[in-house]
Amino acid sequence: MTAFPTGPSLPLSLDWEDWYQLCCPPFDAADAHDRFEDRLERATDLALELCADLGARGTWFCLADQARRHPGSLRRIADAGHRIALHGFTHARAFQLDEATFRASLQAGKAALEDITGAAVTGFRAPEWSLRDSAEDWWRLLPELGFAFDSSRAPLKVLGDPAWPRRPYRLPNGLWELPPPVMGLGPLTVPMWGWAMRLWPAALLRARLEALAAERAGTPLVLHPWELDEGQPRLPETTLGHRFAHAAGLKGYGSRLRRLWRGLALEPLEDWIRAREAAEVRVAEPVLAEVHS
Ligand SMILES: [Zn+2]
Repeated sequence: MTAFPTGPSLPLSLDWEDWYQLCCPPFDAADAHDRFEDRLERATDLALELCADLGARGTWFCLADQARRHPGSLRRIADAGHRIALHGFTHARAFQLDEATFRASLQAGKAALEDITGAAVTGFRAPEWSLRDSAEDWWRLLPELGFAFDSSRAPLKVLGDPAWPRRPYRLPNGLWELPPPVMGLGPLTVPMWGWAMRLWPAALLRARLEALAAERAGTPLVLHPWELDEGQPRLPETTLGHRFAHAAGLKGYGSRLRRLWRGLALEPLEDWIRAREAAEVRVAEPVLAEVHS
């Protein structure tokens, strides 16, 4: 295996959606934005503040319908030096759409985000890691729609497949896939984000994070801005499982992350890919020179 130059850093991703945007009723209804309190601007401020305190820049996977409701917030994210990528036109799971609708929603979503910030959108993450089930191979549509990378394939049961690689790789059409970090083996594999990042022992998480950063593993950290909003209402009408995954450990999470992530160089996914591609060229150049000499 080729050794690439390393420097301790990790990609950082933020899924830009509001606190109530679960992919299930009643939160996925067409009128959900009117039924639940709009707290996205507040959550955005908290996440921007966290990033500024940590000296971190990240890739924000954004919903186009929320960007149209909050264009000023989207611009503030971009103006702070972060990259904007697409999380969907709406927060509907990919496999709940037909292929033509999925394609059209990505086209319209990318255009809407680019119109607002003026910057190219080249990354995609499906809501709830939903490039699975009937949408499992829809990554093949992404390059022709103008995307260079995806971060939707979670190597986990339920949300994806534990057999999928745990490190970034290129899919057969050249698209980069940057899977989120997990820990554990087989049925005991857990995500390294959300409830696990909020509740797992800090010393254990910190050791894992330092190891991933030292390896320059390329597995993006995942944060939802609403996870920093301690004043959000309780989710109504949800199962115990949903409530646990959504709300457990929210109190003090901002302070916890400031300690857990301190000193790590956190960068947009685009930067990790660019550095990796440059390293690959540097490794390939002497080989090519030898062939031509
Ligand atoms: Zn989401």
